[in-house]
Amino acid sequence: MCQRTLRGSCSFEGKGLHTGKFSRITINPAPADSGIVFFREDTGAEIPALASHVGATRRSTSIGVGRNRIGTVEHILSALTGMGIDNARISVSSPEIPILDGSAAPYVDAIASVGIDSQDAPRRWIRPAKEIFVRNAATGSWVHIEPSEVPSAELTIDYGSRVIGVQTVKVDSSTDYASMIAPCRTFCFLHEVWPLLALGLAKGGDIDNAIIAVEHPVSQRRLDRMARMLRKPEVHVTPQGYLDNLQLRFPDECARHKMLDLMGDLRLCGGFLQARITAFKPGHAINTAAAAEILKHI
Ligand SMILES: [Zn+2]
Repeated sequence: MCQRTLRGSCSFEGKGLHTGKFSRITINPAPADSGIVFFREDTGAEIPALASHVGATRRSTSIGVGRNRIGTVEHILSALTGMGIDNARISVSSPEIPILDGSAAPYVDAIASVGIDSQDAPRRWIRPAKEIFVRNAATGSWVHIEPSEVPSAELTIDYGSRVIGVQTVKVDSSTDYASMIAPCRTFCFLHEVWPLLALGLAKGGDIDNAIIAVEHPVSQRRLDRMARMLRKPEVHVTPQGYLDNLQLRFPDECARHKMLDLMGDLRLCGGFLQARITAFKPGHAINTAAAAEILKHI
């Protein structure tokens, strides 16, 4: 298989999830063997998408070199991986990638419309030299990576939630990433975000693009306040137990988004993994720790 890059450039603009700052990014084609590199237009810094540059991993993944950080890189990295792009140079105008609709679909649609070019070099698969197991004893989360000629990934989420339940999702070479994984958005629990919202530590805009699971009974007054924060006339709880600020794109959209994140975070190993990946309740900290382990054992 040959390496691939975009046939042209595509741009996106919007607000960053955590900084709330407006930013503009452009994905450009890049030469064979250059991998994925971010470029901060405001400082001139180049930041290769590698786990050795990972910084904060709370709620999203940031990478950086020195004081030049870029936040929330996981969705764009997932889109490039899902679309089979080996090489790209991503220019960003500010320290955070815009959240767009909370999924990877806008990237995938744009990449598909500019087209993909085959390059005159074979793909360099990342083959971990040994089995890698990363676990967080406190949360019970783990990621397991086994060398395999046939790449695949399977994950399960179980938060003891009566709304989300236990969800399992699996991807392999037969999965159409663009339609099955890319459109899936992140999620949170109302009882987790409510105290932050009530204290003003988060803004309604922070959860505009998130699926919100309502685990416990909630008063009409609180729903009315949620509606004002989300700038909607009203919000309700669906029979499935989700706030209806968004309509679910898949019944198991939460697990599919975890797969989207896992693929994006693991791309920080520097390429396409030739491995069988299994994971339980994966998150950015454990995913990027696994990517760092892979980098050590290639
Ligand atoms: Zn995500």
